[in-house]
Amino acid sequence: MSVGIGLNKSQTMIFVTFRYLPGYPLSTLALNLYLCRVTLSLKLSIRNMDYLILLYYCYTPIEEPEAFREQHHLFCLSLNLRGRIIVASEGINGTVSGLKEDCEKYMATLKADPRFAGIDFKIEESPKHGFQKLHVRVKPEIVHSGLTHIDPRKRTGKHLEPAEFKKMKDSEDVLILDVRSIYEHSIGKFKNALTLDIENFRDFPEKVKELEKYKDKKVLTYCTGGIKCEKASAYLLEQGFKDVYQLHGGIIKYGIEEGGEDFEGKCYVFDGRVIADINRVNPKVISTCYVCGVENDRMVNCANSVCNRHVPICENCGWEMEGACSAECKEHDEKRPYDGTGYYAKELNGYNPLKGLKRK
Ligand SMILES: [Zn+2]
Ligand SMILES: [Zn+2]
Repeated sequence: MSVGIGLNKSQTMIFVTFRYLPGYPLSTLALNLYLCRVTLSLKLSIRNMDYLILLYYCYTPIEEPEAFREQHHLFCLSLNLRGRIIVASEGINGTVSGLKEDCEKYMATLKADPRFAGIDFKIEESPKHGFQKLHVRVKPEIVHSGLTHIDPRKRTGKHLEPAEFKKMKDSEDVLILDVRSIYEHSIGKFKNALTLDIENFRDFPEKVKELEKYKDKKVLTYCTGGIKCEKASAYLLEQGFKDVYQLHGGIIKYGIEEGGEDFEGKCYVFDGRVIADINRVNPKVISTCYVCGVENDRMVNCANSVCNRHVPICENCGWEMEGACSAECKEHDEKRPYDGTGYYAKELNGYNPLKGLKRK
């Protein structure tokens, strides 16, 4: 028996043809049909990846952040981009989504600006926008660390491209250091990485005191997109660590370029996906359902908006608990309706894309 499958031009009709060869077991037919279905659904989903999700940062002096913010906000609106961008006098940090051609235009325009010549975009495809709104804000730092005195353009850990990181990470004299917060590394991290018990990146400097015993090792830091490592690795150097490296482009770029080998679990991201698949080489689940304890890597936000805890909750518990992380949260007045995703877009009520603009 052989099974053929094809799509017509408009891809609305599916042809399945069967040819019977005597002696061919029926279970193989079932498997073939199953594989066809899998291939078909993959093809259909690839076809609809019309959007991109960009993740980027650039440490570069921005002379008048407020004026830049204003103009950048308008520029993003003109391209129908959505997402979050932080502007500071030390640079820009953003994650936005939009149609492919709009994102291409955005990237080309930024790269053409000499201030952002060194910018590196992590680009992922998506079937839809990753965000509902656009926010462009001015803040004192592009990532809140409290380390305002550190300028990564002057001194920071050596950048390792994903391929170099992969080669170095298993050496005896290396410490792989995850500089992200608990809710991020609890769902996924590099094999053998040291993780820190921190709720927020601004607690990182305090934790460095506990790393004294690793001072003679080569320290390889990593984070989601590379930005936290710029200051984290610079701070380690300042604290007397001699040989400090950082994964350039973070976990996201490592996933794109190296198939995510040895990244265990999934990567917490800041768009509507909540988590992203990184490892296509040797994937593994490292987290367990917060409610029932079974192995699980489905990350959700607790449906109780007051709690909003980011935890893994399995499909079953999700429905049973109506998206809540505990019995108390399930009964809470502020519990939002659960739709099976565990992601709650912030209220669009009152959102005005032009908000914050001085020239209306
Ligand atoms: Zn469960
Ligand atoms: Zn909760």
